[in-house]
Amino acid sequence: MAASSLDPADRLAHGRLRTIRGWRLWSMPPGALGLIIGVEFVAVATTVLSLVTSCADCLTVSATTRLAVLLLLSVAYSEITHQMQRMRRFLGGAVLVGLHSVWAFAGVLILPIGYSAVLVWAVFGVAAMRRRQQKAVAYRLAYTGATVVVATLAAKVVVTAIQPRVTELPPGALTAVAVTASALVLFLINTSLVIGVIYLASGGPPLTELLPAKEEVGLEVATLVLGMMTAEVSLRLAWLTPAVLILMILLQRSSLVSQLEVAATTDSKTGLLNAAAWQELSQRELLRAQRDGSPCAVLLLDLDHFKRVNDTVGHLAGDAVLKAIGDALKRELRGYDAVARFGGEEFVVFLDDIGLDEAWQVAERTLSRIRGLVINGASTGERIRLTASIGMAAYPQHGQVITELIEQADSALYVAKRGGRDQVGLPLPARAPHPG
Ligand code: GH3
Ligand code: MG
Ligand code: MG
Repeated sequence: MAASSLDPADRLAHGRLRTIRGWRLWSMPPGALGLIIGVEFVAVATTVLSLVTSCADCLTVSATTRLAVLLLLSVAYSEITHQMQRMRRFLGGAVLVGLHSVWAFAGVLILPIGYSAVLVWAVFGVAAMRRRQQKAVAYRLAYTGATVVVATLAAKVVVTAIQPRVTELPPGALTAVAVTASALVLFLINTSLVIGVIYLASGGPPLTELLPAKEEVGLEVATLVLGMMTAEVSLRLAWLTPAVLILMILLQRSSLVSQLEVAATTDSKTGLLNAAAWQELSQRELLRAQRDGSPCAVLLLDLDHFKRVNDTVGHLAGDAVLKAIGDALKRELRGYDAVARFGGEEFVVFLDDIGLDEAWQVAERTLSRIRGLVINGASTGERIRLTASIGMAAYPQHGQVITELIEQADSALYVAKRGGRDQVGLPLPARAPHPG
């Protein structure tokens, strides 16, 4: 039946149905879709169950006041920090749990279970409304909220099982064990549900790629500890509770600052340093070498016939090659050697505290590692092999400042290319050491 022949109410229903059918959710792989719907169902069902079972505990003045205070703080936090959060997401991709869990965890410790669920739905509802305005995908927001609800209620069950009178937070080891176990449960359940859906939705990438970074885990631990302190403060020093808001804003801000620092110094394609950060770092290292009277060297590496890689397997596969070369360089070199993508398909390395002969060997070893690489060209599955050329300049032989060493390494690279590629070159005026 055509939509135009329906009455307005039917037309509205028809339109809604079409909108629902058009949701991006339905295009998810079946495993991910199952997990999303399953978690959302469990979140709704456990919320209803916990509200019913804790009805008597909830309908008290003290519990309702605590809920109101946490709600107020969480909404204020959400409103004050939403721009910072947006920036963090933009810089850091998926944020696993998010700093909102401070309120969720405080709720676990001081609210009846039903109110714990209400608090999380409210916290995520407010954040979701903001993010919908920023065009975030609805099902992702709903899933994020549902994972926190499930994790929070599990954390509440754990804390209640271990420490029945934990709402009074008596001092003692049992409380410490209960609270820590509960925080651990919240973190583990939430993280595994988030990682699980990403894993299922993106066709089973290596799990190591999905695990949260150290900084992310550190921030999460700080958030949960602040949640514990919020609970304690609101019970004993209620007037001080808003101070947590200030701490949370500062935590959000400092994590944004460190993310900005990383973004400003990192090459997004390879995860290596970018050229500007490398130059600053190397200049500092060179000054130190001059003070200590120790040698050092710069390697400028350019991939051979890289244009052919792009032409034959495409630009995206070319990008995967750049990433693989960056990883290979990191593996081949010492942790403290500064490695950067200098631009295009050129990489640059600063080798600290190393003489000319030894630097030459490092360069040769690096070329041989690249020669041995077989790189998968991402989606199309080609197996790509390639070589590279390296220009090397050493301090003190070839220059005294970093720009001079780079220029010399560049002319040495030209020598290597002209010599037939897949080799190390030295600046023209200097005589090559015996390569062995
Ligand atoms: P050779 O250095 O051996 O002389 O040959 P080449 O083909 O590598 O030469 P050239 O330096 O002229 O070409 C570099 C190519 O690198 C051209 C450009 O399309 C490609 N390129 C530069 N930046 C990127 C990038 O970020 N991603 C990809 N996929 N390709 C890039
Ligand atoms: Mg090249
Ligand atoms: Mg080039």
